[in-house]
Amino acid sequence: MSFNLEGKVAVVTGGSSGIGLETVRLLLAEGVKVAWCGRDPERLAASQALMLNQFPAERCMAYQCDVLDNAAVVAFATAVEARFGGTDLLINNAGQGRVAHFAQTEDEQWLAETRLKTFSVIYPIKAFMDQLTRSACPSITNVNSLLALQPEPHMIATSAARAALLNLTHSLAHEFAAKGIRVNSILLGMVESAQWRRRFAERSDQQQSWEEWTAEIALRRGIPMGRLGKPEEPARALVFLASPLAGYTTGAALDVSGGFNKHL
Ligand code: NDP
Repeated sequence: MSFNLEGKVAVVTGGSSGIGLETVRLLLAEGVKVAWCGRDPERLAASQALMLNQFPAERCMAYQCDVLDNAAVVAFATAVEARFGGTDLLINNAGQGRVAHFAQTEDEQWLAETRLKTFSVIYPIKAFMDQLTRSACPSITNVNSLLALQPEPHMIATSAARAALLNLTHSLAHEFAAKGIRVNSILLGMVESAQWRRRFAERSDQQQSWEEWTAEIALRRGIPMGRLGKPEEPARALVFLASPLAGYTTGAALDVSGGFNKHL
């Protein structure tokens, strides 16, 4: 079975690291032309060098852009259209979480978290909408977290903002169905990536290895599969939902959490 994506154009925000980078890699392996963005020029250049080692330069486009800078996102969309002629798949992945309880969350941080989780999706959707409308198989796929359904007090602002994104994704799926644009999301549990590497560097027991530290987290948090996810696992879920293989699926939120979801 094929994803039927050869020759299509995909945009992946936050494609310079972790889940985004694995999504870029998988799409390129499927014959897709991929444009991806990130803010840090060095990380972006490193991701570009990695992809150019494996895939033809004419299908790779790394672009420096902060998804919270609307003018920059519009310029990104213009550049993608100039380079690839349009966009078929938009994958909104850029972002990060905030670890803090209510007492440690200042008003500005509430606003920043809400802005990140909503406008990191709203700006790219607005900027790429004309191109998606012209596509024969348009889709928008948002990276979200299980926190949207299962909030954690130590990530209170992120949990609330994730719930807003889930709600927004559902509304957009219904509104855009008439245009033929499918809108879905994935709900992540805990996935190995740069965010977890940073937390690992700050671990209390500096003698613990990465494997020991992540296995202990999985055990302590009650992840039934007993491990964190690998970045390529959500990447596969994203590519499936974004592809014509999921042609009759819109408004879905696919769980990629190793069974961490406690809901029916
Ligand atoms: P990484 O930190 O490895 O990757 C995040 C990517 O997003 C990087 O390329 C980063 O590059 C980019 N990015 C962040 N902010 C912006 C921005 N404002 N504009 C453009 N690019 C941006 O994290 P993950 O791969 O783990 O996370 C991917 C997504 O999954 C994120 O949205 C994260 O919140 C979400 N998630 C991850 C979980 C996990 O356990 N890993 C759990 C739940 C959700 P740069 O910093 O250079 O801009």
